[in-house]
Amino acid sequence: MPRVKPFYAVKCNNSRVVVKLLADLGAGFDCASKPEIEFVQEIGVKPEQIIYANPCKQISQIRFAAKSGVQMMTFDNEEELVKVSQSHPNAKMVLRITTDDSKSTICLSVKFGASLNVCRHLLEMAMKLNVEVIGVSFHVGSGCNDPNTFAQSIADALSVFEIASEFGHNMRLLDIGGGFPGTDNSEIKFEEFAAVVNSALDLYFPESSAVDIIAEPGKYYVESAFSLAVNIIAKKEVQLVQSGSNGEESGPIKNVLYYVNDGIYGSFSCKLYNHAHPKPVLHKKPSPNQPIYSSSLWGPTCDGLDQIAEHLNLPELYVGDWLLFNSMGAYTVATSCSFNGFLPPQIHSAMSRQTWDDVQLLRRGIEQAVTREKLPVSPCFVDGN
Ligand code: PLP
Repeated sequence: MPRVKPFYAVKCNNSRVVVKLLADLGAGFDCASKPEIEFVQEIGVKPEQIIYANPCKQISQIRFAAKSGVQMMTFDNEEELVKVSQSHPNAKMVLRITTDDSKSTICLSVKFGASLNVCRHLLEMAMKLNVEVIGVSFHVGSGCNDPNTFAQSIADALSVFEIASEFGHNMRLLDIGGGFPGTDNSEIKFEEFAAVVNSALDLYFPESSAVDIIAEPGKYYVESAFSLAVNIIAKKEVQLVQSGSNGEESGPIKNVLYYVNDGIYGSFSCKLYNHAHPKPVLHKKPSPNQPIYSSSLWGPTCDGLDQIAEHLNLPELYVGDWLLFNSMGAYTVATSCSFNGFLPPQIHSAMSRQTWDDVQLLRRGIEQAVTREKLPVSPCFVDGN
């Protein structure tokens, strides 16, 4: 998407190494709160590189944005315009519109976005309140499964640009949000989204329109970048009595419950936030003739809801064994908490030598005002990735 500048959605994974690397590579940032703005600014990100993309903000946090020079902010309701007119005179507002997110795993338009028929009123209100509106944003929902939703939303955005111009707003920014896949295993590949987005942009917002295009990808950047290793800390065998097809009971079947040192209050919070279905990879490869048992995986807390996976067919595993989970970068560490005193896992960063060299080249090529410090963790090199 050569015309689209990424503003990484910090909410997806706020690890310092991710934010620092993306900042060094020239990305902007979508922040949802004062702490997220403070965090990226502390890393050296300039206010112009930040969009405060939360349509419903606390007044004290709007004041903070004003004080820290962050001007781009989203809105979708009249009350927000009133708050902004009183607390942030230099704000450059971006009107978030609803989308048809029925084909996405996580729907956001139920909570955010103005429908096209209220946009006219909001744009008129903004003019009356002397609030500057510079563009339109949308989010097609996380885990979008239909690239045409982007095309429709881009077309809708053009209608809002036209209404805004009638009221005298100088519209110059389109924000196409997030929702792109985070792994190559997704039903629809990123390239298919890119093709639809690029042609919709060329049709509705050609380069001659001089509109800047940004996006707020979260999962796209981080989902496949993280792998999680968990350790089996406890184990319990239960015998389940199963009834056969004729209704008679067959002999008891061994069922194993494994308890590991991370759960749904930690990295597996992606089950809730990303509707993920985590599947373990065994660290120790089983031999082909090992018996297989129906097994389930549980987190370390005392909550019965803290279940990672069930109905897994696994060989016998032991306390101390490791299980690996791939693609654990999206809505995992950022959404974890320390319920029952269990802390989120430590993050160890690694990069292949080839990627490291590529990153150095890119960094050198990018004219940035940010201070070039060393990455906050010492990198180690792994083959292949
Ligand atoms: N932008 C906004 C406003 C969001 O609410 C989200 C996710 O909830 C994102 C961007 C990132 O979305 P995704 O991770 O699907 O790319």
